[in-house]
Amino acid sequence: MYYTYVLYVCMIPVMDNRRILISGASVAGPALAYWLARRGFSPTVVERAPQLRGGGYAVDFRGAAHLSVLAQMGILDQIRAQQTRLATTTYVDEDGRPVARMPAGIFAGDVEILRGDLARILYEATSDRTEYLFGESITSLRQDAGGVHVTFSQAAPRTFDLVIGADGLHSNVRRLAFADNPGSVRDLGLYVSIFSVADSFDLDHSGLLYSVPGRTAAVFSGRHTGQAVAQFFFTAPDQAPISYDYHDTGQQQKIVASAFDDVGWQVPRLLEQMPKAADFYFDSVSQVNLDRWSAGRVALIGDAGYAAGPGGNGTGTAVIAAYVLAGELAAADGDYRVAFARYERRLRPYVARGQKQARGGAAFLAPATQKKISQRDRFFRMLPYLPAKGLIRYLSTRTATAIKLPDFSVSTAA
Ligand SMILES: Cc1cc2nc3c(=O)[nH]c(=O)nc-3n(C[C@H](O)[C@H](O)[C@H](O)COP(=O)(O)OP(=O)(O)OC[C@H]3O[C@@H](n4cnc5c(N)ncnc54)[C@H](O)[C@@H]3O)c2cc1C
Repeated sequence: MYYTYVLYVCMIPVMDNRRILISGASVAGPALAYWLARRGFSPTVVERAPQLRGGGYAVDFRGAAHLSVLAQMGILDQIRAQQTRLATTTYVDEDGRPVARMPAGIFAGDVEILRGDLARILYEATSDRTEYLFGESITSLRQDAGGVHVTFSQAAPRTFDLVIGADGLHSNVRRLAFADNPGSVRDLGLYVSIFSVADSFDLDHSGLLYSVPGRTAAVFSGRHTGQAVAQFFFTAPDQAPISYDYHDTGQQQKIVASAFDDVGWQVPRLLEQMPKAADFYFDSVSQVNLDRWSAGRVALIGDAGYAAGPGGNGTGTAVIAAYVLAGELAAADGDYRVAFARYERRLRPYVARGQKQARGGAAFLAPATQKKISQRDRFFRMLPYLPAKGLIRYLSTRTATAIKLPDFSVSTAA
């Protein structure tokens, strides 16, 4: 018996650089923790929020590449069970009369879910094999041959073999470990605010959008009856970036209220609910472009490394990136130099396509002139009559499917 045990232990590959700290517990962080644990690493996730952040806007997965990674993680059925089931999205005029309908797949992909519900599914799929530290943030990183020496806002300092930043657009790890490059975060000139409201619109798995030049207000049904999510998209009036404090919700709400203060339809009713919303969200739509996604023992994943913005498949990219990064680390027996280089080589073209697609997002989400709004509405009115079958499916999945997933169980070569 003892000899059998010794033989078994000797057959388990000894992986270098097993202790991996991940910053951020939204999508990219827990997805990476899942794949790292499955490949024999020991992940720890540190999240600034005191607990998992719920609610928020809907994110979607589309096409075979996204869905196959979720299926391999064993969470696709759970995601399907909790999806928003958005059926139709209707553009309306100031009086609420329909002017055009957008097919569900364009906004909602193959499966759409609230970001908070997805984060919970990912957390539950990983919490037994991942150490989670909530209400905690990295304050410094120092690397040498022995690892990355990390200090935290609350916990005692620790040393990890590798650190991965999965902490979003305003990444803390990027700020601490990557040389300051002012061009790396590009504001696309579009601003977005999202918060929960009561569903007094009888939405029933549908959405309504109302546009005036440079501004679109929308309301979508939530997962439960009586719940809805209001969304506001707007461009800076004079094309100059709006400056704001990321932590000052009061200031952000004033910016949103002032951008929409002369807009009709149901906008005043929606804005009335803004100060009471527990999940108010406001941010610029920005893209992250870095020369390198790693700096020694530290690397970035998801929005922290290559945010695309709405329309850029950021959520699907994050789960694919988690699969690839953990797979490459295992394939290289933990040799992070080899693994980080292969991860970046595989993902860069895919990320670039998503970012290119998202750069058209402002023109689509908040058309600049009344003429462009009318053109958009006309396009959606004509769409059902266009001859090419499968056109919508093709247009809405072509960037999401533009990657061949490596099979790490068969081949480990780049
Ligand atoms: C308005 C909007 C709509 C979108 N719609 C879609 C969509 O329909 N489809 C789609 O695919 N994508 C969409 N995206 C993009 C998508 O949300 C992201 O690409 C995706 O969530 C990737 O997430 P992430 O885990 O990299 O980062 P995030 O989801 O931003 O998570 C970062 C995490 O890090 C935590 N954090 C931040 N700072 C620290 C710190 N100092 N220490 C520890 N933790 C920290 C945060 O609290 C958060 O939990 C949308 C984005 C926006 C802004």
